[in-house]
Amino acid sequence: MASTLIHLFDNIAGKICYEEPMSKHTWLGVGGNAEAMFIPKDLNDLISFLKIKPEEVPVYVLGGGSNLLVRDGGISGVVIKLASPYFKQIVKNNNSITCYAGLQNTLLRKFLITNELGGLEFLCSIPGTIGGTVKTNAGCFGRCLSDVLISANAVDMKGNIHTITNQDFHFSYRHADFPKDWIIISLTLKTLKSDASTIQHILTEHQVYRKAHQPVNKKTAGSTFKNPVGNSAWKLIKESECDTLTVGGAKMSEKHCNFMINTGNATAKDCETLGEAIIERVKNKTGIALEWEIQKIGQDK
Ligand SMILES: Cc1cc2nc3c(=O)[nH]c(=O)nc-3n(C[C@H](O)[C@H](O)[C@H](O)COP(=O)(O)OP(=O)(O)OC[C@H]3O[C@@H](n4cnc5c(N)ncnc54)[C@H](O)[C@@H]3O)c2cc1C
Repeated sequence: MASTLIHLFDNIAGKICYEEPMSKHTWLGVGGNAEAMFIPKDLNDLISFLKIKPEEVPVYVLGGGSNLLVRDGGISGVVIKLASPYFKQIVKNNNSITCYAGLQNTLLRKFLITNELGGLEFLCSIPGTIGGTVKTNAGCFGRCLSDVLISANAVDMKGNIHTITNQDFHFSYRHADFPKDWIIISLTLKTLKSDASTIQHILTEHQVYRKAHQPVNKKTAGSTFKNPVGNSAWKLIKESECDTLTVGGAKMSEKHCNFMINTGNATAKDCETLGEAIIERVKNKTGIALEWEIQKIGQDK
């Protein structure tokens, strides 16, 4: 299959891998192969590829893989990962910074402290990349991306660049509106003047909270389900006695029962089956329909 894609990469400068195991690129550590994975060298390289890509070749953009369940049959077409140095830049403006989409959120820490810029500390504790925060309007500690985003640049499948303002995204809880196939290139984020010790103090508080309340160093994709309006997914899971359910190598964390864990040998099928079983039991017990927060992609085996 992958051989039909090879000619697309004749003139590109970035890296290509064929039949790349997605379990290596996702926090949950499950999933089949991507037919091809393309790591563009820079924006021009990405645009060159998009301009020659036939419409029928599907493209999927991957961030840090911290919110993904890739099915065991893998992903057909091309997975794009913005992992080259070009896509990890941070540029300081007046009262804002522009971060490229492939920058890991944790790498913002040092920049904020060195430049004494506050207001974005919450983002630093969310696993994954800047580009990956958009789709779910990622947030924690009472703040979310939409509180700090000024605008984003994205490229469409024909290689055209678009600027999207905060309002254009119509953000809501774990939701943003933008065309499914647009690739976010960079975000411009509001900053506040602060000082290094205050920023460090907030960052430490966040880390301490996460260590105490969430599983760390585990194979997980974060919150499995969105919190229904006025309720908490973890409370509904516990109330419905789903916190101890297991399917194969998949179970819910003892520390936080809305976090699904791959105990080591789970398949994507185990994880999805466990999630669906929880949805059904919670619905039967409480009448509330839980909705996946984890993005599920790819084909079954
Ligand atoms: C331990 C743990 C704790 C977590 N805590 C939180 C939390 O507190 N708050 C929270 O909101 N989330 C949390 N998450 C979930 C996850 O970290 C966030 O959703 C994160 O923003 C996903 O970013 P990513 O780069 O890993 O995206 P991925 O998981 O790779 O992708 C997620 C989605 O974003 C899309 N995407 C990625 N990059 C781009 C791009 N450049 N352009 C367009 N679309 C793109 C993908 O196609 C996919 O649909 C947690 C996860 C873990 C494992």
